[in-house]
Amino acid sequence: MRYLVISDIHANLAAFDAVLNDAGSFDAIWCLGDLVGYGPDPNECVARIQEFDHLCIAGNHDWAALGKLDLNQFNHDARVANAWTREQLSPIARAYLEARPTRIERDDFLLVHGSPREPIWEYILDLEQAAINFEHFEEPVCLVGHTHIPIGFVVDLELQDYYRLVPPYPEPLRLGNPKMRMILNPGSVGQPRDGDPRASYAILDTDAKTWEVHRVEYPVEVTQERMRAHGLPHRLIERLWLGR
Ligand code: ZN
Repeated sequence: MRYLVISDIHANLAAFDAVLNDAGSFDAIWCLGDLVGYGPDPNECVARIQEFDHLCIAGNHDWAALGKLDLNQFNHDARVANAWTREQLSPIARAYLEARPTRIERDDFLLVHGSPREPIWEYILDLEQAAINFEHFEEPVCLVGHTHIPIGFVVDLELQDYYRLVPPYPEPLRLGNPKMRMILNPGSVGQPRDGDPRASYAILDTDAKTWEVHRVEYPVEVTQERMRAHGLPHRLIERLWLGR
């Protein structure tokens, strides 16, 4: 099976469509949460993903839009965008987001938004946090989003050695080595934060046992214009150019 693995679309339909066009053929989408929040197209993104065979878990911004999290836990700009998203959500989109689980186990993979230890909130940014989190799941591979940074963390079980894998990878990462376990992040579709404004996504091939991270340009100005039209915070508009 060939899966399109995406995360943190953040209601950015132009970026989501660019990824769908760039990804080639795939059997299903695995989405790691934060379908909405920040961007101008929450209902459209919820509708788009449902055109495909897919799994989707809940992220912190999805919960915020549903009123399941206190908006005071977010910074000012995120709070404004979340309050706007909450007002915009159609009953259909709301029901869809309400039904998302916080974790899904599928064959050799665990899907969560933040981390296996704390699926909604924890950011896995460094090796120390990755090392702790390897104790909190059983599967060979955990797929995470939330940081908006494409990266891999690996533990070599024989050597008890931990290391990071930062894309671009010279060739696809090989999965399926029983001596290795991994935490893999495909980066963010709709609001990258690694200094590269292009949308980020991954292709997981469970037959070839490979993981590839891709970047694709999208019309950032289309999303920015729609955000301006809705009066969304200036800083959230500007950061899309910067990829930060
Ligand atoms: Zn996010």
